[in-house]
Amino acid sequence: MNWEYVQPVRIIFGNGQIKKLTSEIAKLNGSNGLLVTTAGFVRRGMAARILQLSGGTIKQVYSAVSPNPTVEECDNCSSILRDNQCDFVVALGGGSVIDCAKAAATFGLTSCAATDFLGTGKAIPQQHLPIIAMPTTSGTASEVTCVSVLSDHNRGIKSPMNSYGFYPTVAIVDPELTLTVPPHLTATTGFDVLCHAIEAYWSVNHQPVCSTLAVHAAHLALTNLRQAYKHGDDLAARENMAEASVTAGLAFTLPKTTSAHACSYPLTNLLGIAHGEACAMTITHFIRFNANHGCERVVQLAHKLGYEDAEALANAIDGMREDTGMLLDLKSFHLDNTQLEQLIQGSKHPNLRNNPVPVSEQDLREMYESMI
Ligand code: NAD
Repeated sequence: MNWEYVQPVRIIFGNGQIKKLTSEIAKLNGSNGLLVTTAGFVRRGMAARILQLSGGTIKQVYSAVSPNPTVEECDNCSSILRDNQCDFVVALGGGSVIDCAKAAATFGLTSCAATDFLGTGKAIPQQHLPIIAMPTTSGTASEVTCVSVLSDHNRGIKSPMNSYGFYPTVAIVDPELTLTVPPHLTATTGFDVLCHAIEAYWSVNHQPVCSTLAVHAAHLALTNLRQAYKHGDDLAARENMAEASVTAGLAFTLPKTTSAHACSYPLTNLLGIAHGEACAMTITHFIRFNANHGCERVVQLAHKLGYEDAEALANAIDGMREDTGMLLDLKSFHLDNTQLEQLIQGSKHPNLRNNPVPVSEQDLREMYESMI
């Protein structure tokens, strides 16, 4: 088996580690930074704490990033970077903030707009400002990936952009930052983590380093998500979910995600289901589907996680979905045939081809028909 592994982001992990921001900025020789965040972190006083830790080196703040960030928000950040000749970027927030900051750190060094690159296939310039990413959700692992997902409402698209320059220089993963995540968001982001881990393990592109990380992350998510959901102030559960998130991120970046993520895109785009909840909708279906079609890796994964077989693993995850208030079917949407067809066609995303068992249009149809 031939494989490669690369991971260029330095990761600093631990409770209270946001204090390392001061020395990390010094390592970059940063003197004129931009903080990208949301209004919530300004309101809760966390943005002020970051400014204090920066010792006056962060001179600009952009706090208007929305969930599912837009090209306009990215362009606003780029303009601030350009107009003020900033020399580094700090992102404090969930995947949305980090994605916006990552793209702006590149586009801010050019005269380009995000729309020049989003969904156009145009090569993204490699030069970029250094980014310090501080995730506040345990979910996307955007702090260790080279992906930025932006939305352009004028063109009706939400799309990922990939660029080596989008890798942050350093990720400071401080689980205490996730203590304020409300229960539903804890669950949806937590299922994103679990799906990253499971799909990384069985992806057709699986490789041993990522598989080892995937088992570690899946185990942590399976044993801590319920507790983090029910008792958001349980720092040990939050710490374990943060560790699951970052290790799952390292696990899936190279093998890529597969069937559950492929189906999540139309479930989000057409029905507005939150990303992690949308992944959770089909993950147990695909555990059973893959096992029933002879995929040995899903059985192997179930054994490594302490389950008798794939069915037992699927049952455990279904139980967790119920306990955390995730949607269990699509009945409440009263889908008509056109919408059903859109879901099926939208699920034929390129990542579907990473599933270890080929998934046909008929397979997708049967799955969705069983959910409506
Ligand atoms: P998010 O960043 O969109 O945040 C969701 C909401 O939670 C926001 O309102 C935010 O302000 C709030 N929030 C965040 N942290 C909080 C905290 N500690 N306390 C209280 N509220 C908090 O959510 P997300 O799931 O982290 O990111 C989703 C985005 O990431 C989507 O746009 C998705 O497409 C993208 N994504 C990116 C990658 C990648 O590799 N770059 C991978 C998967 C998904």
